[in-house]
Amino acid sequence: MASTLLQKVWDAHTVRRLPNGQAQLFIGLHLIHEVTSPQAFDMLRARGWSVAFPSRTIATVDHIVPTLDQRRPFVDLLAEEMLSSLERNCREHQIRLLDLASGHQGIVHVIGPELGLTQPGMTIACGDSHTSTHGAFGAIAFGIGTSQVRDVLASQCLAMDPLKVRRISLKGRLQPGVYAKDVILHIIRRLGVKGGAGFAYEYAGDTFDRMSMDERMTVCNMSIEGGARVGYVNPDETTFSYMRGRPFVPQGEEFERACDWWSSMASDPGAAYDDEVTLDAASIRPTVTWGINPGQSIAIDERIPSAADDEALAFMDFRSGQPLKGTRIDVAFVGSCTNSRLSDLREAARILRGHHVAPHVKALVVPGSQAVRAAAEREGLDRVFTEAGFEWRGAGCSMCLAMNPDRLEGRQICASSSNRNFKGRQGSPTGRTLLMSPAMVAAAAVAGEVVDVREFAAAGAGVGR
Ligand code: SF4
Repeated sequence: MASTLLQKVWDAHTVRRLPNGQAQLFIGLHLIHEVTSPQAFDMLRARGWSVAFPSRTIATVDHIVPTLDQRRPFVDLLAEEMLSSLERNCREHQIRLLDLASGHQGIVHVIGPELGLTQPGMTIACGDSHTSTHGAFGAIAFGIGTSQVRDVLASQCLAMDPLKVRRISLKGRLQPGVYAKDVILHIIRRLGVKGGAGFAYEYAGDTFDRMSMDERMTVCNMSIEGGARVGYVNPDETTFSYMRGRPFVPQGEEFERACDWWSSMASDPGAAYDDEVTLDAASIRPTVTWGINPGQSIAIDERIPSAADDEALAFMDFRSGQPLKGTRIDVAFVGSCTNSRLSDLREAARILRGHHVAPHVKALVVPGSQAVRAAAEREGLDRVFTEAGFEWRGAGCSMCLAMNPDRLEGRQICASSSNRNFKGRQGSPTGRTLLMSPAMVAAAAVAGEVVDVREFAAAGAGVGR
């Protein structure tokens, strides 16, 4: 019988069906970090339990690491304690830790794919909402809470409610200046921030077929912002060529055998879906959020809707009918697990070449991993950024959620390539976040206000796709 990828992966990992209707799923890869794991390890210790599969558990540090001065001990004693605690726990349980000295440290959703830990047909769990990123490879990847981190450490299993599948087909070519970030912001706006509740999102259609793995990761990353439990793209040649040669990927004949198996996990033609939505790629324009959730967005050439949420308008200090174009910004942030990969940095740098950040704007670029940072430096992107007035930082989550010193102050407005614009998300309880693509962030940084990257590009810089 024709099946979806979700069903195949689910069935392959079901240990047993629980009396309450949930499935006990075996988790192939558990990614942990310094923020959601310490209490989970404490709970294990309190019960005298050990980690069931240390070899299937990989740790890194990302949320609290400073991006300016990464020397130990950190100035922030709480951050130092969290990192030390992760080090102790990993030592005690023989878990591989990709720390600052490893050369492989970075945001957990950036390093998994870049090391080849993330593979098609897998179940993956991590104590961070944006674990859906790994679905770009045809994995089923769950963001989990601390008690579930404990459960996976102790048993390598999760109890999960069954999911429906919504296929979102995107057809046609994206316009120049329109990126994967615009696609997912557009999808969330159309389907709502709770529209995906109870669903897995399967992204299909020729637009996704043409996307690079980095672009697919950007889309899958924000599935959770649309309420979907997971998001995925069926594995294909683009997936396999990205994976070939990466450290944790099988080599030689084993790789060919793995490709056969990975291909077999893709959704079958004729598989039944619980819901289907088809969207037109050519109609998507550069998109920016105006509110306090990622569904509150408009295309850059639109105005804030007339029936807009009063709480959001009041917090953001916007009015219905107002355009976002021309909104003065204070901070520009290129980073986060949504948009901190090499291709994101290249696109932002392409906009910045020959320009300088506006005098009133603080601009920082935070590569997603040490590997991204090193690759960008080999291409000279660091010089493009610094000559344009951006600060070139060490890898980490940084101003995505501001658990380190990178924070907004007061009512500052930030043009941000991250994934959440909730109140207080970027460190200041009253700070304001405008989500957009890295190219749009770069253009806003130069103009000192929100601009349409397509017009900015027409005025001098190239714009890509
Ligand atoms: S960059 Fe932001 S969303 Fe991504 S893992 Fe870090 S804190 Fe979570």
